Amino acid sequence: MNEKNVLKELEDIVGKDFASNRSEDLYIYSQDPGASVPRPADFVVMPNTPKEVQEIIKLANREKVPIVPMGGGLTLSGLVIPVKGGIVMDMKRMNKILEVNELSRFALVEAGVTSGQLLAYLNENHPRLQPPIPDAPPSVTIAGNALIHGSGYLSQKFGDHGAMINGLEVVLPDGELYKLGSCAVSDYWFTRGPIPDFIGLFISSFGTIGIITKLSIKLFPKPKMRDIVFGLCKEPNVLPELISNITFTDVAEDILLGIQDKPDWMKGYTFIIVYITGETEEELNNKRKILKKMYRKGKSRYMKVPKRIEDIFLEKPQFAAKAADFRKGGGFEYVGAFIPLQLIPEIIQIGTDISLKHGIVPTLGARLIGQGHAAMFFISYSFNRADPKDMKNAREALHETNKAVLEIGGIPWKAEVAGQQLILEKMDPNYKKLLKSIKNLLDPNGIMNPGNWDVK
Ligand SMILES: Cc1cc2nc3c(=O)[nH]c(=O)nc-3n(C[C@H](O)[C@H](O)[C@H](O)COP(=O)(O)OP(=O)(O)OC[C@H]3O[C@@H](n4cnc5c(N)ncnc54)[C@H](O)[C@@H]3O)c2cc1C
Repeated sequence: MNEKNVLKELEDIVGKDFASNRSEDLYIYSQDPGASVPRPADFVVMPNTPKEVQEIIKLANREKVPIVPMGGGLTLSGLVIPVKGGIVMDMKRMNKILEVNELSRFALVEAGVTSGQLLAYLNENHPRLQPPIPDAPPSVTIAGNALIHGSGYLSQKFGDHGAMINGLEVVLPDGELYKLGSCAVSDYWFTRGPIPDFIGLFISSFGTIGIITKLSIKLFPKPKMRDIVFGLCKEPNVLPELISNITFTDVAEDILLGIQDKPDWMKGYTFIIVYITGETEEELNNKRKILKKMYRKGKSRYMKVPKRIEDIFLEKPQFAAKAADFRKGGGFEYVGAFIPLQLIPEIIQIGTDISLKHGIVPTLGARLIGQGHAAMFFISYSFNRADPKDMKNAREALHETNKAVLEIGGIPWKAEVAGQQLILEKMDPNYKKLLKSIKNLLDPNGIMNPGNWDVK
């Protein structure tokens, strides 16, 4: 690669202001806020159109320069750190909301549209609709989140956000633009089928297959009223059945669990946080009654909390998005683990034991996905970003947790490179073979976010 020529070509494609190899610009693109070790990027580029994305990929493919697509860069697990150097493609300039279809309930957006932007746009222009967004900072992108099987306040009822994608426009390493989903056949980006569904290939592949330039995301009716009913449980073994029973009734919009040793009064309990929605106060009241009864029957109890706390939990995105800097040095990263419900007690034990072993205050939580089909459990480890030893300690705790999660039958979510290797080790050999064949076919020069999903 001739660095000067590559920079000149990038500048010719996007303009001088939007391509750089200056160290002060690259610094921020060589790391993320999680515990991963930084790796130097060689270039950053910010395209404005699909055409520019095509030109950049053609250049990268010709010069065999790695290319890493980036949305908000906030997964925390290092997924946009350029493991093998190369070009970080920051998608934030492609930030147009192209269409909102009220009747068929989808939004067609460019890949750089953020969750805060879409939420604000809908609140102002389509107040009856709500988007599937995570409880992450509002600068994360709709694409980045949906493309990693993200989850949020609609996921218990409707599934993870990967399932919310109706259609994609992608650029593959050959530089061609592909439309996937109903948009390949119709002007309406309203569904994934009924044609062979390739969209799944792009979800949780962490930018290793192609670059998404547009996506259609499902929208949902916004209920008039929303409230929260807290429960408290001392015995983790009763949780799988209790949670499953709650999902049977269809009263819950969103179900979260919280398990933390700090503040002291939280230690030893699982907090069950159920969001209910409705059109009338009467409907909410009925749901409150049903839940209180279920808590009692499930060896747990209803908990009344001050209104001030309720209000914090009712914000969108929820309070977790602001909790990033809760400790000196501000760092945290979590193993997100997709697990079947029966593993809840085991994973609480694993997370608590590993935290204590590493001298970290146990901080665990979960969100139900798809009405009881799975739980996304997060086991969070805090660290001081200014202390390399503390970061190493957190990395070790994360790695041990990934291993333990896989051993009991769960699957780490948005796993960092080391976690991906653990998953690959356990993966059915033919699944692995298929993944390798697809990657080799679509990306023969291995330019797409190399180092990730690196099938040996
Ligand atoms: C405080 C906090 C709270 C959080 N809470 C939640 C939560 O409730 N739910 C949740 O799901 N997540 C949560 N997260 C995790 C994460 O921030 C979100 O999932 C976020 O939406 C990821 O989006 P992003 O734009 O930052 O993605 P990025 O980190 O930019 O990208 C994610 C992956 O997708 C790839 N990618 C991005 N854009 C493209 C593209 N255009 N084409 C191809 N590949 C692409 C990247 O290469 C990378 O592999 C939280 C994070 C924090 C810091």
